[in-house]
Parts: sequence; C-alpha cells; structure tokens
Amino acid sequence: MNFTAKILFIILLFASTISFAQNNSERRCGSNEYLKRCISKDSSIAIKIKNIEENIQKQINNNIYNQKSTESAVYTIPVVVHVVYNNDAQNISDEQILTQIDVINEDYNRANTDKANTPTLFSSVAASFGIKFCLAQIDPSGNATTGITRTYTTVTEWQLDDSVKSSKTRGADSWPSNKYLNIWVCNLFGDLGYSTFPGGNSTVDGVVIRYNAFGRTGNVAYPYNKGRTLTHELGHWLNLIHIWGDDASGSCQGTDFVDDTPAQSGPNYGCPAFPHSSCGNTSDMYTNFMDYTNDECMNIFTNGQKQRALFVLKNLRSSLTTSNKCTVGIDNIENTSSQFKILPNPLTGDILTVQLNGSNPGNINVMVLNSLGQIQLIKNYQNYAEKKISLNINDLSQGLFLIKISTDKTAYTGKFIKL
Ligand SMILES: [Zn+2]
Repeated sequence: MNFTAKILFIILLFASTISFAQNNSERRCGSNEYLKRCISKDSSIAIKIKNIEENIQKQINNNIYNQKSTESAVYTIPVVVHVVYNNDAQNISDEQILTQIDVINEDYNRANTDKANTPTLFSSVAASFGIKFCLAQIDPSGNATTGITRTYTTVTEWQLDDSVKSSKTRGADSWPSNKYLNIWVCNLFGDLGYSTFPGGNSTVDGVVIRYNAFGRTGNVAYPYNKGRTLTHELGHWLNLIHIWGDDASGSCQGTDFVDDTPAQSGPNYGCPAFPHSSCGNTSDMYTNFMDYTNDECMNIFTNGQKQRALFVLKNLRSSLTTSNKCTVGIDNIENTSSQFKILPNPLTGDILTVQLNGSNPGNINVMVLNSLGQIQLIKNYQNYAEKKISLNINDLSQGLFLIKISTDKTAYTGKFIKL
C-alpha cells in the first residue's frame, strides 16, 4: 500500500466497526472502539489524526529520527493516578500503584527482566524508549502530592465514554493534560483499558484501566497481573497501533505504520509457542506489547515503534516532558542547615556522610526517599554522641534522593544525587 492509501485505510478502519470473536478470557482493549465513538461525535478528530500520521511519516521518511533510533535522551513524564472506587477491592493500595509505575518504567526502557523471553528473531529490533514515568509531587495548585487521588463513587461500572474523567458524572476530574499524564483506575466494564490517541480532546486525554489489571501485586487477576495493560494502552497514548494493523482478521492488509514489526493476520491471544506465523512471515511478533497476548507473554517494543512514540513526545506532548511536576519539590529544597551537612554531594561512592554540628543531638532518625517518595532507607540512633553519621547507600541506584533527618530538637530535609 502506498502512503496515502495507508492513511485512508487507517482512518476508515477507525471509523468502522471491526471486531473479533472473543470470549471473556481474551484480552480486550477499548481504544479503537473509543476512538470511533469520539470521531462520530466530532469528525474533526479524524482530520487531526490524519494530519498527525502524515507528519509522522514525513519525518520518519526524511530520516529525522535515526533509523536505529539510538537517541539516548530521557523524557520524564509526571503521572497522576485517579483511583475511582465503589468498594474496597476497587480502592487499590498505594503499593499496587507503585508496582504499576515500576512496570511501565521497565517496559519502556527495555529493563523488564522477561526481555530474555523475546525470540532471538526479534531481539535485534528491541528498543528502549528512554521514558521515565514518575508520580507527580506537585499538584495543579502547587501543593505537595503523592500523585494519587482517591474518589468514592456510587457508579458500579464504567463504560468507554469518558464519564470516569469528570466529577460531574461521579468520576474524578483530570489534572491539566499538558502537565500531567492522567490515569484513571476504576471498574471498567468489558475492556481492560482504553486510551486517547494524540489529537483528541485535551480535557479527557489519558488512560483508563480496570482496577484488577493494574500493577503486579495486590488485587490483580491472572492473566493480566503483570501490569502490561497500562504498557499497551500507553502505547496508544503515544500513537502506537495494534501490531496486526487492526484489519479484519486474515486479510494481511492492515499496517501499524512500523517497518520492523512483521505483518500478521490478527491479534494473538494467550501465549503462542515460537514460531507462530501468519501472512507469510517467519513468525508473528506475538510478544510485542501492542498484541493481545497475556501479560506474561509480552516483552518488547521495537525501534520503529520508538520512532513513532518519540515523534509524539517531541511534537504533540512535549509540554509534559518539561512540566517538572515530579521533581520541582525536591529541586526547591536547599541543602543549607546550621545543624547538618551532607557530604559528598553529588555522591560517587557508597558512603554518605551526615555531619552534625552544634550540641549533642541525642536521638536521631534518618530517612532516605527516592524521587517518587518511596522510602529507601531508615536508620535510628539512640543517644548519639558523635559528630557524624556514615550511611552505606550501596543498594541505591543512581538518581536524586531526599534525606530527612530529625532529632528531638530539630528536623532537616535535604537532597543528594548519587552518580
Ligand atoms: Zn489496544
């Protein structure tokens, strides 16, 4: 198919109703059905999507993005998770949410441990996108936040209609989508999740995920218990298309506009054995995050998919990557105190020294948190009489950390960078 034909095909595709025989155990993603409904309400969205696709293809054809996509920049995206619950099971724990943030940070950076399961045929095109997702630390009013909101609702089931995204319809209002990636977790009916594509209405921009397909601990249900539903839906949010191209099953005519994913005849479910071929390929890339396989079967994005996603981040969602809603709280903390000094900073070794000034501090509590606010280290010292504390932070990865020190008389919060 030539380029114009491809564009027309995809628009027709989104505007039509295409479904596959499914049963309840098969993955269901509502993003295409959702987009079709958006276009039926506002036909200008189809034109915007067509223009976006043309621009992506032009830039990729002009090789603005390296074909191997070796760019190593890191794009930081602040995230707010809106938990909208009707009962305790739906009111998932902070821990469950944090595991989901871990999953997307792994999957979008080829840091997932199950990448070893990618068939050798495909491992040479595997990509690390260089995207860091972080729970917001500053809310839209400028106050400190955990990046998680919780809203009780009388609604027992939600549909593909944006109603969970507004308090007027008993959901939770979005935070400005030019500063935050909004994720709603609720009891979504039928589908595991749905996402907006770039080019839609900014007030409803974001991703909705069913509560028991979110994260990889707590209230999650096999086979969607590894957090891959959000990885998949965020792919749509970054303008990735289902790997089989969303054509009617068996036609082999659809395209995901990505050259390094083989043509395949339809979605794969469960977890096929390698090779699993269709459309004359050696094997479908059924381990791609944009297929419909089980969470435990998915483990790869490709360089071609990375090119599309980076176009979106650089052109359509660039304000998110500079909004600083994750780190501004830490950045504003000054490392000045008459009582404490942190040495060295930045830290290149494993020993962080807290120098204690003034009189005998007595009882001391030291806490180290990462940029997500997660506690990494806690130490307590009783009747401490020395002038310094040496902390072994060998277990910490590289990055920015908060250190909170409190005594019976005073408290101090500082920050340090481990290189
Ligand atoms: Zn999907």
